Amino acid sequence: MSLTLGKAVFVLLPVGWYIIRWEHARRSRRTPVLRTARGLREILLLAIAFTGLILLPSIYVVTDFPRFAGYPARSLQAWLGVLVAIAALLMFHRTHEALGRNWSVTLEVRENHRLVTEGIYRYLRHPMYTAFWLWALAQALLLPNCIAGPAGLLGFGTLYFFRVNREEQLMLDTFGEEYRAYMARTRRIIPWIH
Ligand code: SAH
Repeated sequence: MSLTLGKAVFVLLPVGWYIIRWEHARRSRRTPVLRTARGLREILLLAIAFTGLILLPSIYVVTDFPRFAGYPARSLQAWLGVLVAIAALLMFHRTHEALGRNWSVTLEVRENHRLVTEGIYRYLRHPMYTAFWLWALAQALLLPNCIAGPAGLLGFGTLYFFRVNREEQLMLDTFGEEYRAYMARTRRIIPWIH
């Protein structure tokens, strides 16, 4: 195992994410679920995202596998990765703070589910997915490996593109006009753009 700045900072992503979401996850676990999309499709999507964002890069961090895909680390690239990783963690913090006990790892509506439209949700409908995109981008910059680096973009991208329309449909079914109006004034993951 060769320790680099990139690897060390990458490890802080899952650790920081876990610490940030721990308290909120505990609270939302205690809130009963009314509707859920939990099922084979969601389990598969979560497994794919987990493989790309955590499993493959962790194996790389410890063993440098797959070695043939490695390339020399560049320090400008690694430092850019550090900035993006910090942005990802700040974004996670913001989203959990605003979403509170309405959070779920999958698509669910909880008892007394409230449509959150304040805090970071004033500008974006899916800021937590923005945070995961930032994580995946940081990973690509921090890990000088053509497979372990981009694996997060591919893994999370799959979850995102197969989930986001269904999530918005669930929100429309639950909140109707309120969500339609909210959609009209916000973007999905990048302010003013997407
Ligand atoms: N897509 C959001 C939330 C991810 S957590 C984001 O990226 O920030 C997924 C859960 O959040 C889903 O179960 C859904 O019910 C809930 N959710 C999504 N948008 C919401 C909102 N604006 N207010 C309340 N709950 C929301």
